[in-house]
Amino acid sequence: MVKTKKFVVAKHFEGEPKENDLQLVEEELPSLKDGEILCEAVWLSVDPYMRVFAPTLPKGSIMIGTQVAKIIESRNKGFPVGKYVVGHLGWQTISVHNPQQPTTSPMAPTYLLPDFGELPLSLALGALGMPGNTAYFGFLEICQPKAGEVVVVSGAAGAVGSLVGQIARIKGCKVIGFAGSDDKVRWLKDDLHFDAAYNYKKTDVDTALKEAAPNGVDCYFDNVGGVMSSTILSHMKPKGRISVCGSISSYNADAKQLAVAPVVQPYLVFKELKMEGFVVHRWLDRWMEGIHQMKDWVKDQQLVYRETITEGFENMPKAFIGLFRGENIGKAVVKA
Ligand code: NAP
Repeated sequence: MVKTKKFVVAKHFEGEPKENDLQLVEEELPSLKDGEILCEAVWLSVDPYMRVFAPTLPKGSIMIGTQVAKIIESRNKGFPVGKYVVGHLGWQTISVHNPQQPTTSPMAPTYLLPDFGELPLSLALGALGMPGNTAYFGFLEICQPKAGEVVVVSGAAGAVGSLVGQIARIKGCKVIGFAGSDDKVRWLKDDLHFDAAYNYKKTDVDTALKEAAPNGVDCYFDNVGGVMSSTILSHMKPKGRISVCGSISSYNADAKQLAVAPVVQPYLVFKELKMEGFVVHRWLDRWMEGIHQMKDWVKDQQLVYRETITEGFENMPKAFIGLFRGENIGKAVVKA
C-alpha cells in the first residue's frame, strides 16, 4: 500500500489564514485502475486564489492546488512512468489520478509537462504555467497595449505582476509598478527595468503617479483592488483600459465589512474607460500558445523570472500565509 500525506481543511479561514486551519493527515492510496497514474509531487504551488475558494470546500476536503508531479506508476499509455505532469492534484504528496477523466472543474486539465529544456520544472507553476498565462492573456488581450503607452501594474513584484510589467516592456510601453517593500522596488527597477517603481507602503500612490505619469495612464493591470486601485483609476487617460486580475487587498477581509474605497464610476464615465475582469481559464484553448511564447521570452532573456522557494511539503501553510504578508518575490513555490 502506498501512503500519501495531504493537507485538509480543518477550520474555515477567518481573516488571515492560520497554520492550524489546515491539518496534515496520512492516508493509504488504492491500487491503480485502468487509465490511472500514480504521481509524486515534486513542486507545489501556493496561490492567492486558494484563499478565495477555500471557504467553499467542505471541512475535511483536501486543499486545492496545482503541482508538478512525476509519474511513478501508470496504467495509462499516454502518461508513461518517468514523465512529469502539471495537474490540479491538491496539497498532497502522492496522488492516484486519471488525467483523462472528464471533470467539471474550470481548471486546466492535467497535461504532460512540455519540454522546458534546461529551465527548471517549477516554472510550470509560474512563468510557464497559470500565472504566466494570466499575465500573457490577461494583459495583452484585455489592455491591448501599444508601444509608447503608459502601463501601471499593482502587485508588481509578484508572480503575475512581475511578468505583466516585463511583457509591457517587451511591447515598448513605459511601465510603472507598485509593490510592498524596498527590496521589491529595487528588483523591479534594477533587474526587470521598470521605468518607475514605488513602495506603496511608504509612498503616496497619487503623488507617485503625478511624478511618473504626469500625462496619465493608458493601461492598468490590477492585482490588488481597494484604495490603491481607485487612486490609480483617477490617473487614467481618456479611453484607458483596465484589466482586473484580482483584489488580494480584500481576500482576508470579512465580505460584509470590506474596506470602503473611493467610488470609481465618475472616472469610468467621464474618461470613457474600459474595465474588464477575467479568469485565465477563458484562454484554455490557447494554453500552450501562452506557455511557448513565455518560454521563448525566458530563453531569449527578454523575461526574467524569480521564485521564492519554501523547502518541504510540511511547510505549505507557511508559504501560503506568506503570500498575504508580502513574503514572496516572484512566484511562491514549495519543493516537496
Ligand atoms: P503574488 O503577487 O505572487 O503574491 C501575493 C502578493 O500580493 C504579495 O507578495 C504581496 O506583495 C501582495 N499583497 C498581499 N496582501 C496585499 C494587500 N493587502 N495589498 C496589496 N498587495 C498585497 O500572487 P499572484 O499569484 O501573482 O496573484 C496576484 C493577483 O492575481 C491576485 O489577486 C490573484 O488572486 C490574481 N490572479 C488572478 C487570476 C485570474 O485568472 N484572474 C489568475 C492568477 C492570479 P506586496 O509586498 O507588493 O504587498
